[in-house]
Amino acid sequence: MKKTGYAYSDIFLKHETPQWHPESAQRLTAINNLLNNSGIMQKLVMIEPRRASEEEVGLVHTAEYIQKVENFGSGYIDLDTYMSEGSAEAAFYAAGALINAVESCASGTVNSAFCAVRPPGHHAESSRAAGFCIFNNIAIAARAAQGRGFKKIFIADFDVHHGNGTQMIFDHDDSVYYFSTHQSPLYPGTGSAEESGSGKGYGFSRNIPLKAGTEDAEFIEIYNTALPESVNAFQPDMMLVSAGYDLHINDPIGGMNVSDVGVKGIVDGILSAAWSGRKIPVIFALEGGYNLRHLAYSVKTTIECMLNFPD
Ligand SMILES: [Zn+2]
Repeated sequence: MKKTGYAYSDIFLKHETPQWHPESAQRLTAINNLLNNSGIMQKLVMIEPRRASEEEVGLVHTAEYIQKVENFGSGYIDLDTYMSEGSAEAAFYAAGALINAVESCASGTVNSAFCAVRPPGHHAESSRAAGFCIFNNIAIAARAAQGRGFKKIFIADFDVHHGNGTQMIFDHDDSVYYFSTHQSPLYPGTGSAEESGSGKGYGFSRNIPLKAGTEDAEFIEIYNTALPESVNAFQPDMMLVSAGYDLHINDPIGGMNVSDVGVKGIVDGILSAAWSGRKIPVIFALEGGYNLRHLAYSVKTTIECMLNFPD
């Protein structure tokens, strides 16, 4: 059985959003309840999140933006992104949860992890919040991993939205590969197939935009052919996953026709790509997913795939 870590902190609940807002604290409570009640939680290695340092966050975000987040207080920092008094700390701890997951992989304590964090991260750019995201957790984790000997990082992003922030941060970078499937057209409007990186980063981004209504079979095909093709060509040292469950058919925001079977197929494809040849650590970080019941079930499915992956 795989040693799988789980990173969560109650500090993430202190990021409070307005009543109507889909990105709510209840998302994490629903996940924890299902993992506890189904007996999955007891099989996981707990990873205690810590506060990411300004220096660690500063490998991705500008000093001016970090200061803005720290001093913002409460209100809308972006059209869609609300901050409460506890949001800045939650954002630092969300990034720190991923860094600790990286460290747990580096020390060999685990070989995979799921980070149940909020606020999410993949829309956040180096100098601005966007789309419910404050700090780009996955990008900060990629830099932290590179500082610990994992030179080449592969980021897979299956959130229904394109991870514009992550793509932009690594646009010119040939040491981080960004692979995304997403609904198009949809917010934020980026992620066309022609966007494949710039300068020495050219060829290190791969976007697969998909029409609303795309079904399980097409996703499973992509994650078992296109994804391993990119992974094998790049030969990464670590895999990071922007796990957005708003691609589920029951999600109130996304428009895809992906069932539980599709979620399992996507996750198994990612794990196979990471673990079929040279076995590299895999860290999943929560992005979107707004139907509480199906979000929790999809996370449970993801973790079961990690625990049950054949050695
Ligand atoms: Zn999303």
